[in-house]
Amino acid sequence: MIELRHLSTGYGTHIVAADLNARLKEGELTSLLGPNGVGKSTLLRTLAAFQPALAGEVFVQGQPLGDLSASEISQKIGVVLTERLDVRNMTAYDMVAMGRSPYTGFWGRLTDEDRQLINEAIEQTGIGPLRERSIQTLSDGERQKVMIAKALAQSTPIILLDEPTAFLDFPSKVEMLRLLKRLAHEMNKCICLSTHDVEMALQLSDCVWLMEASGRLATGSPRELASDGSIARFVSREGVSFDAESFTLRIEG
Ligand code: ADP
Ligand code: MG
Repeated sequence: MIELRHLSTGYGTHIVAADLNARLKEGELTSLLGPNGVGKSTLLRTLAAFQPALAGEVFVQGQPLGDLSASEISQKIGVVLTERLDVRNMTAYDMVAMGRSPYTGFWGRLTDEDRQLINEAIEQTGIGPLRERSIQTLSDGERQKVMIAKALAQSTPIILLDEPTAFLDFPSKVEMLRLLKRLAHEMNKCICLSTHDVEMALQLSDCVWLMEASGRLATGSPRELASDGSIARFVSREGVSFDAESFTLRIEG
């Protein structure tokens, strides 16, 4: 679905990560892990074509990302960022409806089919009761679900999310990851999210991308990266150990 070949990401002449090789598959939830500043957001932005690759290539459904028009990209890749949007007087429904803009144009009229897709996205994410609420009155978790509904309404086979579980309380984090996993499995979407919630990501993801401080991108199933020591190298330090069987951290006081 998405393939990175010898991809380098960065800004101008500043390379953040080099020679990344990996794939994202449809029907799978992939978690992108790694320390702060290692380049997770930069990678997601590069995959979404918000910024250019510095070397190598990204293929989307077999086509080089660079060959796709902005409109084609917006029909293939939905992006959910965590930055708070300054939107006033916009209801949750309006925000989800914005997901249809690649098809209708910004001022475009919604067709019956558009409305159907918006309603399905609202139902899938369980935000029906929030439909008429103003975006700025929603909690972080509620707003995050609205943004996921918007990405679903966009009807893209691929959805990329930058730290969708940040700022959420524990039950909301679990609910968010379960929702994304269900969408990947039931709707055959290719979903990739960055997160610092390591234990949860390992327990709920089909695949893990671990950006290591060394610059290497380790990829595999949670089981594979747990047993080959990659996860332990990332999280273990004095007094903190990783149990590769249960995917949990043990912290000594
Ligand atoms: P992560 O999301 O893993 O915390 P980022 O992708 O945000 O990491 O950042 C990776 C590196 O790129 C950091 O060294 C950061 O300072 C740098 N960086 C981020 N944004 C920019 C930018 N707009 N211009 C230049 N460097 C940037
Ligand atoms: Mg980031």
